[in-house]
Amino acid sequence: MSYTSQPYVKIREKLLAGELSVSTIVQSNLDQIHSHNKALNAFLEVYEDEAKAMALVVDAKLKVGTAGRLAGLVVGIKDLLCYQGHGSQAGSKILNTFKSTFSATAVQRLLDEDAIIIGRQNCDEFGMGSTNENSAFGPVLNFANQAYVAGGSSGGSAVAVQAGMCQVSLGTDTGGSIRMPASFCGVIGLKPTYGLVSRWGLIAYASSFDTIGPIANHVSDARLVMDIIKGDDGQDSTLVAQIPPPTSDKMRIAYIKEVVEHPSLQPEIKAAFEKKVAQLISLGYTVEGVDFPYIDQLLPTYYVLTTAESSSNLARFDGVKFGHRTSNPVDLMQLYKRSRREGFGEEVKRRIMLGTFVLSANYYDAYYTKAQKVRRLIQEKTIAILSEYDFIVSPTTSSTAYRLGEKTADPIQMYLGDLFTVQANVAGIPGLSIPMGEDSNGLPMGFQLMTYPFQEDKMLDLGERLTNDEK
Ligand code: GLN
Repeated sequence: MSYTSQPYVKIREKLLAGELSVSTIVQSNLDQIHSHNKALNAFLEVYEDEAKAMALVVDAKLKVGTAGRLAGLVVGIKDLLCYQGHGSQAGSKILNTFKSTFSATAVQRLLDEDAIIIGRQNCDEFGMGSTNENSAFGPVLNFANQAYVAGGSSGGSAVAVQAGMCQVSLGTDTGGSIRMPASFCGVIGLKPTYGLVSRWGLIAYASSFDTIGPIANHVSDARLVMDIIKGDDGQDSTLVAQIPPPTSDKMRIAYIKEVVEHPSLQPEIKAAFEKKVAQLISLGYTVEGVDFPYIDQLLPTYYVLTTAESSSNLARFDGVKFGHRTSNPVDLMQLYKRSRREGFGEEVKRRIMLGTFVLSANYYDAYYTKAQKVRRLIQEKTIAILSEYDFIVSPTTSSTAYRLGEKTADPIQMYLGDLFTVQANVAGIPGLSIPMGEDSNGLPMGFQLMTYPFQEDKMLDLGERLTNDEK
């Protein structure tokens, strides 16, 4: 635990001074995995031998001064990211036996800098969920209290960092899946601006929302990883070629009144949030409540558009191209139907059906087109606020982690938990969740910062000040 609880810059100093080896770090993470993974279910597969072998290679590079910028950083990757020669299953039975033939750009860039990939991490099936209970491989349990969920969909990624099984995880965030589990587990989660990190090698859920970002114990580690994974790779046409320059500081921060006064907000979270606001004021910021007229439209817009995109993205899982195929079908149609019925879980089927419905000829304009229009309004209003203020702040979630099974019976209740996080995805802006203490049950709470597109550094600077991170 001791190595992984330090920021990577500190670890690197020790590595360069020869006081610590990558093999020792890897072993310490593996020890944590051996002690806790059976119970927590964070990793679906651990690349133990490979990680040890890579550690020896990186130790040798350190000795001769050729080690990359992430030498000895031990990283876990969410099961939605491709890693050449390794399984990628999206937490789903439909990708049983599937092995990636190439690596995601984000994964490859970490490897190129000598990070050690220690395993792939459990998640909600295809990233669809908020508690990691929709994984075909069972839920991930919260290390703070195993009667509670980890949050989702990057639950395994958050718990792995929380429990010291790796230093950083790569997660994905379509509607909050990095920030929400980070908040439930008391760690840091960064969702980048849409268009900053290539989605090449990310198994698609909702392509116009999906982002890849780090989950870490330290803001500085999240920044380091982001600096390495961001930027054009020629494979994702939605990437910006040039990252816009920083916006000037206004020393003004907004919170959305309808969020902070929301009836679902747990009183302890509200109190902790108010303390954070006081901290911001003491740093010299003016903090003001603003109105956001589309609060009730956020979730419907998000769920109409993401289900539509997922119904189209998931059409490729047909039992023919890759993954699970049913046995002895009588004809092609039965092969498709049975492979999909057997391979997909309940929530994924629900989303495919909803998405197919909103895209169907008779309902397309009423749902899909309408939601696209509302998305534009939400984007414009969000950007208008961020043109006057440096940040929009809120609690990351309205409550701390749910008990296992608490929300599984009612999908609507589950979706409501995403209320504070989806705005960043609908608008395409960056968001950061940092720890905000614990409630009276010892469950972590999270504080969210959102800012103008491509201003990740500015957001991380403030995140660092608020967490008093060591540089
Ligand atoms: N809970 C949200 C959903 O189920 C967010 C998921 C995500 O960000 N991948 O769609």
